[in-house]
Amino acid sequence: MEFSKNEIVDILKDDSQNNWLFSLADRVRKEYVGDEVHLRGLIEFSNICRCTCKYCGLRCANKSVKRYRMSPDNIINTAKNACNAGYKTIVLQSGEDSFFSKEVMCNIISEIKKFDTALTLSIGERSFEDYKFFKQSGADRYLIRIETTDRNLYEKMHPSMSFDNRVRCLKDLKTLGYEAGTGCLVGLPEQTVESLAGDILFFKEIDADMIGIGPFISHPQTPLKDSLNGDFTLALKVMALTRIILKNVNIPATTAMETLNPEGRLIALQCGANVIMPNVTSSVYSENYDIYPNKAHLDEDIINSRQIIEGKIKSIGRTISKDYGFKRKLNN
Ligand code: SAM
Repeated sequence: MEFSKNEIVDILKDDSQNNWLFSLADRVRKEYVGDEVHLRGLIEFSNICRCTCKYCGLRCANKSVKRYRMSPDNIINTAKNACNAGYKTIVLQSGEDSFFSKEVMCNIISEIKKFDTALTLSIGERSFEDYKFFKQSGADRYLIRIETTDRNLYEKMHPSMSFDNRVRCLKDLKTLGYEAGTGCLVGLPEQTVESLAGDILFFKEIDADMIGIGPFISHPQTPLKDSLNGDFTLALKVMALTRIILKNVNIPATTAMETLNPEGRLIALQCGANVIMPNVTSSVYSENYDIYPNKAHLDEDIINSRQIIEGKIKSIGRTISKDYGFKRKLNN
């Protein structure tokens, strides 16, 4: 289904057709990626970050967060335990922590790839060469959200970072044959529905394989502490439109959705999402992966417990995938 930018804007502005939109996204999800939900075991291995993203609690200027860095052995063991518990994808996520050089990361990647798992990295902006070595060591996928395609807003939100470099990262990842994931925040201060429509069209243009969409959640130790949280329904609509327009991509029901609505992830699974990323990091660490408030509390439920999340997924008539969950091909 093709939509022009103006049509996307109209849908985002008009809440009277939301039920139609959500059920269409659910039908497109069923047709193109089926009823299986892919579980990805998320390891938040370091909260040390050199960046100063204005919305993020991990920004280096936040002195009140207790910083941690898991050792390579600890990361590898955590991944092994998650694989033994049935996870078929491990996601390694961190702040932009220079301790994890190309060499250190390649060692971690090749050790984890000895287990029966796909591997996703989400460690921020790196050089083409680093991405190439990570791929050669066995990394399959890479997540790096564009956050917003509004260049001015991007530059306001990310002092000393460049929009062009963010796009360069995504293009490099596609060139190197990764499954590339991107996505946006919904509800950043001064963000418009026109720019959200631009985000969706950007996902298509860049030929993204995975798209994570989450509402912005205001963090008290950031410059955006007085800003309002993003709107749950608007985030859901951006996600639903992304499913309808991009069809066969993998879309997580994000934890940030659940922060704003106690059933946020289950609702997202019924409005286009087909992936959940349970946190498999020890709570000793993940309670300090303080990107936004109340995240750690949500993680507590699912650490080491696939059963809870599996039960919820089955309760809405969906099944748990037993495969690696690569992007399904389109049958043209
Ligand atoms: N450093 C890596 C990167 O830049 O891609 C990965 C870690 S970063 C903390 C992961 C994601 O957290 C970001 O892409 C951003 O969208 C999300 N995030 C950060 N602060 C947030 C907030 N206040 N509300 C919602 N999501 C947030």
